[in-house]
Amino acid sequence: MDYDVLILGGGLVGCSIAYELSKYNLNIALIEKDYDIADDISIINTEIVYAGLEIKDNEATLLQHKGNQLMDELANKFNVPFKRCGSIILAEDKETEDKLKSIYENNKDKEGYNVKLINRDEISKLEPELRGLYNSALYCEDIGVISPCELALGYGEVAFQNNVNFKLEEEVIDIENIAKGFRVVTNKNRFTCKIVINTTPGENYSMDFSQPCCDNTEKEYANIISLNKYYNNGYKRVIFSLNKDGDKIISCPTNKDETIGLICSNDNLKNHLVIEKVSKLIPDIKANYINSFFTSEFCKNDIIIDDSQIKDGYVKIRGKHPAIVTMTPAIAEKVRDNILGILKCKPKKEFLDKRREYYKFNEMSNEERNEIIRLNNRYGKIVCSCERITEGEIVDAIRRPLGARTIEGIKRRTGVCFGRCQGSQCFNEVVSILARETNKSINDIVKDSKNSKIILKRIKEFDEM
Ligand SMILES: Cc1cc2nc3c(=O)[nH]c(=O)nc-3n(C[C@H](O)[C@H](O)[C@H](O)COP(=O)(O)OP(=O)(O)OC[C@H]3O[C@@H](n4cnc5c(N)ncnc54)[C@H](O)[C@@H]3O)c2cc1C
Repeated sequence: MDYDVLILGGGLVGCSIAYELSKYNLNIALIEKDYDIADDISIINTEIVYAGLEIKDNEATLLQHKGNQLMDELANKFNVPFKRCGSIILAEDKETEDKLKSIYENNKDKEGYNVKLINRDEISKLEPELRGLYNSALYCEDIGVISPCELALGYGEVAFQNNVNFKLEEEVIDIENIAKGFRVVTNKNRFTCKIVINTTPGENYSMDFSQPCCDNTEKEYANIISLNKYYNNGYKRVIFSLNKDGDKIISCPTNKDETIGLICSNDNLKNHLVIEKVSKLIPDIKANYINSFFTSEFCKNDIIIDDSQIKDGYVKIRGKHPAIVTMTPAIAEKVRDNILGILKCKPKKEFLDKRREYYKFNEMSNEERNEIIRLNNRYGKIVCSCERITEGEIVDAIRRPLGARTIEGIKRRTGVCFGRCQGSQCFNEVVSILARETNKSINDIVKDSKNSKIILKRIKEFDEM
């Protein structure tokens, strides 16, 4: 067999499983069709670490709760900012008040759940900007915010350092059953392995008999508006506003002082309707505060880990639930236990559970800046003046384990081009640095994927000047 374990898909879930399994003496590869891991999540996400609060417990709530509890240690280990800011869940009507009471009753006596029903005065005390508009709410201390993209990079980089083979730009075409294992066919190779962990949405592989992710009745749209750091609604916590019709509005403060607004609906809403609807909770949105709009489908299916074929060595993870970021540490541990149940392997003695250090110039003191510039003068050259990102950080993003190979990859790792000018000042320089560091022609640099070249072609080719 080429590998003990093949992980299909390099999203957050695939990377978290790669990280967890890289602690063992296993020969592992991860296959991802894109140029980078966790490509989508940084742009479409509310970044909430949920607590697993529901009226009844199911797999999804248990995975959320466990994931929530494991998050501090992981964030610390990977040097990923994680703010346990807490959350207020507001009831807009009597029916929702009753629902919040049931959630409270289900969770109040459980260890590790910090929930409390609060009244109008208590709401105003915690969040004065809510201006006493709500009679009751559920307050939960455990909810927090984390950058899912940085979390994915943490998982991926540590797995890579511990010898997980990342096969990027390689698309899985089929999975076939063979004696004592599988053959995974990609657009470039055919690999054999004992175990397949499939985190891709593909449902048409020869041997995937698992049920479709969910039916249409379980789907809903998440309409997201992202507001820059110049907008401030004054909320310190994640605020949910719920009503009996199932409407849900969320205001979420990110770790970068931005605000993410979300409205769930049965339709993909036009931008002006998103603004109109979230304004109930996120008022005074002006055009110059808006970074972007996104819409994505959720699927609140209960089954996240389908291990019905684990005896044959096949596990499928369904990644459409709105709290998968939160669940990743728990999903990874559960899959690990599944694998350890069927493969004989031992923990790696030389496992390195640490991410290579990196520097954020705009968060350093002047003394620290001088010190780092003394060691590497590229940290003395500002490329993105809006966010104060240096050439040193961009070069490190490219050279580090599982480094960036696309402009979006550099943006995600450093924050460059995310400032007020959205890259109009620094974009060209970032392209030049990536070309120089990867020894490529500028014509071959891509924004995000194979079909996203920055420069299509030269206007004229000259034989001589
Ligand atoms: C709008 C929105 C907001 C969210 N907010 C939150 C939140 O606040 N908190 C929270 O906990 N969770 C949140 N989530 C959930 C979470 O972000 C996602 O569900 C999660 O990132 C999914 O990760 P994944 O690895 O399962 O899937 P993906 O990220 O989709 O990864 C699958 C990977 O497989 C690759 N792939 C696909 N097909 C192939 C193939 N044939 N061959 C090789 N590779 C392939 C893809 O390129 C992709 O990289 C949110 C989700 C959405 C949509």
